Amino acid sequence: MKRILIIYTGGTIGMVESDDGETLVPFDLDHIMAQIPELGKLHLQLESYSLPKPIDSSDMRPEHWCTLTEIIASNYADMDGFLILHGSDTLAYTASALSFALAGLRKPVILTGSQLPIGMIRTDARENFITAVELAGMHINNEPIIQEVAIYFEYKLYRGNRTMKVSAEAFEAFESPNYPVLAEAGVHIDLNKKNLWRSPFDLFTAKPKFDSNIGVLTMFPGIQKAQVDAILNVHGQKGLILQTFGSGNATREPWFIESIESAIERGLIVLNLSQCDKGAVEQGKYQTSAALKRIGVIGGADLTLEAGITKLMFLLAHELDPDILKEELTSNLRGELTES
Ligand code: ASP
Repeated sequence: MKRILIIYTGGTIGMVESDDGETLVPFDLDHIMAQIPELGKLHLQLESYSLPKPIDSSDMRPEHWCTLTEIIASNYADMDGFLILHGSDTLAYTASALSFALAGLRKPVILTGSQLPIGMIRTDARENFITAVELAGMHINNEPIIQEVAIYFEYKLYRGNRTMKVSAEAFEAFESPNYPVLAEAGVHIDLNKKNLWRSPFDLFTAKPKFDSNIGVLTMFPGIQKAQVDAILNVHGQKGLILQTFGSGNATREPWFIESIESAIERGLIVLNLSQCDKGAVEQGKYQTSAALKRIGVIGGADLTLEAGITKLMFLLAHELDPDILKEELTSNLRGELTES
């Protein structure tokens, strides 16, 4: 029997009403497992681990990503697959972060959660949980079919670092706008085999390190110099994501270009990501992005914000030579971007 490690971090899936009945608070893993006796019919050996204090995923921090990476690494040899139960709010961030921290992955790491707690009649948690476990246990010729970090939610399996939460209400809460779904669950589970990730590395290595000294500057018409300068001058900041318009465009006002240019000259890594979910940054396509390219802003192609933030934190933590860091940022390390 294949062995799957279920790691519980918290989130709506396991929440119950607080004592005053007014808010939802994380509860324990036994409560979740007790609601799904069918798991016993899957012919898988399920083991479980719970964070000592399950959390709402809005409280997730890079330290939690490191803990998850270490749990997976220390159980990697003994387990055939991993399932992480996680709140949906920052699920795409954790999935992206783990995809970078787990290099040379040859086993499935599937994350899931739910929009309604598992104890509720109309809950989406049961299906999400059961199918996610099934996916984590799928093998062909004794080799895991999924060998990457993926998110399963509402009948679809997505590449983790391509995914974003798009709805606070619908059961179909996630999308991966720039990459096809990896599998769809109906009567059968239809795998989109040609789109599954296969690592170019021979060896599995865990790299639980993130440097959170980064910022995000979202462009809007009317943005003021004082606001831009405030974010460019945050003490200790090493990287900045510039969330631009369309295919990577921003105002051409001289004060703006000059402020960004002098920050780059001081060593700040500036990564250009689009505010549009679909499509890619193409610096130089319009006059409004040509100056960004000229001053050394790095084009982030079709990275999601979640993948951009976690990739930048991951690469900065490894203290690479600036040219190598820039090269890695624009390279497709774990299937997270489409290289032009
Ligand atoms: N606030 C919850 C969380 O992310 C929402 C959810 O789980 O869907 O933990």
